[in-house]
Amino acid sequence: MTNEQKALFIIFGGTGDLAQRKLYPSLFNLYKQGFLKDHFAVIGTARRPWNNERYQEIVRNSISGMEVTAKQANEFSSHFYYQSHNVNDTQHYETLRKLADELDQKYTLEGNRVFYLAMSPQFFSIICQHVKTQGLVTDNGYNRVVIEKPFGHDLQSACELNEEINQYFPEKDVYRIDHYLGKEMIQSIPALRFSNNLFNALWNYRYIDNIQITLSEALGVEERAGYYEDAGALRDMVQNHILQTVALLTMNAPMTYTDEDIRKEKISALKALRVYDAAGVKHNFVRGQYGPGNGQVAYRDENQVDPESTTETFVAGRIFVDNMNMANVPIYLRTGKRLTKKETRIDVVFKNAPYNIFGDGQLNRNILSFKVEPNPGMELRLNGKKVDYEEYSIETMKLHHEHGAKTQSKMPVGYEKLLYDVLKGDSSSFSHWDEVYYSWRFVDSVRNAWDNETLAADAFPNYECGSMGPQASKDLLAEDGNNWYLSPDED
Ligand code: NAP
Repeated sequence: MTNEQKALFIIFGGTGDLAQRKLYPSLFNLYKQGFLKDHFAVIGTARRPWNNERYQEIVRNSISGMEVTAKQANEFSSHFYYQSHNVNDTQHYETLRKLADELDQKYTLEGNRVFYLAMSPQFFSIICQHVKTQGLVTDNGYNRVVIEKPFGHDLQSACELNEEINQYFPEKDVYRIDHYLGKEMIQSIPALRFSNNLFNALWNYRYIDNIQITLSEALGVEERAGYYEDAGALRDMVQNHILQTVALLTMNAPMTYTDEDIRKEKISALKALRVYDAAGVKHNFVRGQYGPGNGQVAYRDENQVDPESTTETFVAGRIFVDNMNMANVPIYLRTGKRLTKKETRIDVVFKNAPYNIFGDGQLNRNILSFKVEPNPGMELRLNGKKVDYEEYSIETMKLHHEHGAKTQSKMPVGYEKLLYDVLKGDSSSFSHWDEVYYSWRFVDSVRNAWDNETLAADAFPNYECGSMGPQASKDLLAEDGNNWYLSPDED
C-alpha cells in the first residue's frame, strides 16, 4: 500500500523556472503514485501579483506534457495556493503564516512543513530568519528547509551562510539539494559496491587502476550566463555533483545503510581529498573555454558574457582521495559545456591481470561503467575468448544492463525522488554541511591557484564547440599512460 505523506509545501520562488520545470511535475508524479493525495497543499510565493486561479493554471501547464487527464490536473492543481510576497518584507510573513495555518486545518496536515527555497542564494538566510521568527514553523509536526545550489560561492561564504541558517534551522532539518544524488545510477553506486562481493573485494588501490568521471553537456550557457560568468564550471559542477559522486565512489562501507552512517563515510572521503598547492593545481587541473564550432558561437560571443571573459566552461582534473583503500588511485574528472554530446558516465578501470599467458600483447582493461544518462544502465567489460578456428586469442566482451522500458517509466526523476526523501525525513541523498565544507575547501584551492595565475592572452578559447574539450585534458591522462574511455568525439 502506498504510504501517503501529509505536508504543506511553501515554495519560495513559486513563479520561477525551477518550480515550473522541475518541482510541479515532480510533485505531480508523487501525487499520481499516491504519495501525495488528500492531505497536502502547496503555497507558491513570489512577487508577481498572481492569484490562485492564475497559479493553478500555471501548475496545470507545467504538467501538461505528462500523462495526465483533465480531472487529475484539476484535482491536483486545486491543492495549490498563491501568495504574492516579497521575501524582504517582514509583514508578508504574517499573511503567509495565516494561510499556512488555514491550510493545515483544511487538509489536516499535522503541522508538517517543507520550506523550499527555489530562489537565488542571496535570499536563503533572510527567508530562514523570517520563517522562524514570524512563527511559520510549527510545534506539532516537522519543519524542513530545502536549499537549492549553489550553497555559497567559496568556503568562506558557505561557512557564513551555514552559520546564518543554523541560527534558525538545525542541521538535521536542512536539506541541501543536489539533484545528481537523485539520479538512479548515482543512487546505484553503493548498491553495486556493497552488495556484490565481486566488487566489494576489488574496490581498492590493489585492483582499481583509475576512475574516470565525465559530466558532459552539449548545451552552452543558455539563459544562465549572468550566473555562470561568475561561477564557472568548477563551482557549478565540480564542487557539488562531481565531488558528491567521488564521495560515493571512494567512501568506506557504511556500518548500516542509514543516512547517519552514509554521511559519516562520505564526510571522511571528502575530508581525505588531497588538497593541492598552486604547483599541484597546475600539474593536475586543466581549464578550458569554448570557441566557435559546429555552427555555434564562442562563449565570449554569448549574450551577457564579457567579450574578454576568462570564465572556464570546461574543467578536467586528476584528484586523489588519501584514505587506506583508495590511496594513489587517480580519479580523473571532466565536465564542460558545448561538448560532443550530453552524457554522464563513470568508468571504474581495473588493473590488468598480473601476467598475460595469452601472448605478448596487452590485455584490455576490465571496466565497470555506470551510465548515468542518457539511458541509465551499467556495463562491465571483460576479456573473453575470441571465436576463431586457428588461434586462441582474447577479445573484449561487454556485459550490458539497461533497465527495461517498464522499469524506466517507473524510474523517479531526480527531484521527485529527493522530494519524497524530504517527506520521509531521509537525508542520505542530501549534502551534509561537513560534506559541503570539505568540497569547498578543495575547490577553493583550485580556484585560488587559478585566480593568482596570469592567464596568457591567447589561452582562451581553447576548444571547439562539439569537441570533448581542450587537448590538455587528453594529455593529462596520457601522462599516466591512460586515456579517456568515453570519447564520443572519436567514435
Ligand atoms: P528564477 O527563474 O529566476 O526564479 C526566481 C524566483 O524568485 C522567481 O519566482 C521570482 O519571482 C522570485 N523572486 C525573486 N526575487 C524575489 C523577492 N524579493 N521576493 C520574492 N520572490 C522573489 O530562478 P530558478 O532558475 O527557478 O532558480 C531558483 C534557484 O534554483 C536558484 O538558486 C538556482 O541556482 C537553483 N537551481 C535552478 C535550476 C533550474 O533548472 N532552474 C537548477 C538547479 C538549481 P518574482 O519575480 O515573481 O518575484
